[in-house]
Amino acid sequence: MRIAFFDAKPYDLPAFQLHTEQTDLDIRFYDTHLTAQTVQLAAGCEAVCSFVNDMVDAEIIDRLCELGCRILALRCSGYNQVDLQYAAGKLRVVHVPAYSPYAVAEHTMALLLTSIRRIHKAYLRTRDFNFSLNNMTGFELHGKTMGVVGCGKIGQVLIEICKGFGMHIMAYDKYPNPDSGLPYYPLEEIWKQSDIISLHCPLTEETYHMVNAESIAQMKSGVVLLNTSRGALIDAEALLEGIKARKIGAACLDVYEEETDVFFEDWSGHIIQDDVLARLISMPNVIVTSHQAFLTQEALDSIAEITVQNLLSLQQTNTCANELYWKDGKILRGTPMQ
Ligand code: NAD
Repeated sequence: MRIAFFDAKPYDLPAFQLHTEQTDLDIRFYDTHLTAQTVQLAAGCEAVCSFVNDMVDAEIIDRLCELGCRILALRCSGYNQVDLQYAAGKLRVVHVPAYSPYAVAEHTMALLLTSIRRIHKAYLRTRDFNFSLNNMTGFELHGKTMGVVGCGKIGQVLIEICKGFGMHIMAYDKYPNPDSGLPYYPLEEIWKQSDIISLHCPLTEETYHMVNAESIAQMKSGVVLLNTSRGALIDAEALLEGIKARKIGAACLDVYEEETDVFFEDWSGHIIQDDVLARLISMPNVIVTSHQAFLTQEALDSIAEITVQNLLSLQQTNTCANELYWKDGKILRGTPMQ
């Protein structure tokens, strides 16, 4: 099976090369996004492998079908970037539902500690032999309330980490698991009572801009917002206003609503056109990482292993447990009944 692999970065290659060594999968690595301009690179390939910021809309799906592609292998868990309804019956879509929740949860805690203990500032200061502690006062996590929105695999790992810090947990999930023992609260209470709020739910029509001017108004003054899920969960302009109004104490963002054309690339030396992103980055209490939360050796290995298994499973058995498909207005997982 020949596969066109888009958005290939140097850190992707070793794990995919290792896991395809003993197979007949023939991967062509391309460093470009999958777009209407680049889709032609998939000519002659049965499958395409894409990542979080490759928008697979109706136009791309039609072009892939014309080129003879039958499979879209997402090497990520989120699939909001794919028009699954339009793909139904045209393109088979597989994804990696879980690779390492620890990678994302640990990055979330790393961002939080960096922010509230001013580690990012200390690193720069001491490199300049500035040993002053002025404006470096932080606060302790012990006894603080952490509101976790979306308590799936990543949210639950973060909750365990937070318990280790002696934090009080408030959980919200649209589909609470009664056997989880998690302390669920209504979303409104999370907004009102949390000292820190961390988002771990998928991006859907319902969760789009769930953090907006209205929800920010309900939050505690000085609240710390963490987003390592999907950028559009937060209305970035409302966030900026909340920071300027001193309502939001700090924000740590691994994802950003308009990240598609910016993240994963080196724009140093260029003029950034996105004024909201530029203003956010200029804030002393905002930390931005470039959709990096997943990036551990363990996660890269697991992503490659599961993606290769997904492709082999479709090739050899015509079924795959990690297939996504649209039926009766719902997104389901597994191979549809033929
Ligand atoms: P998961 O499916 O295990 O958990 C998601 C949880 O969100 C589920 O418990 C689900 O019931 C809940 N949920 C669904 N709709 C909701 C709603 N409207 N309100 C509140 N909760 C809702 O997924 P996961 O593996 O924990 O991943 C969570 C998110 O993290 C993914 O959707 C993905 O966007 C993001 N992610 C980011 C990175 C990164 O590198 N930054 C890496 C992997 C995943």
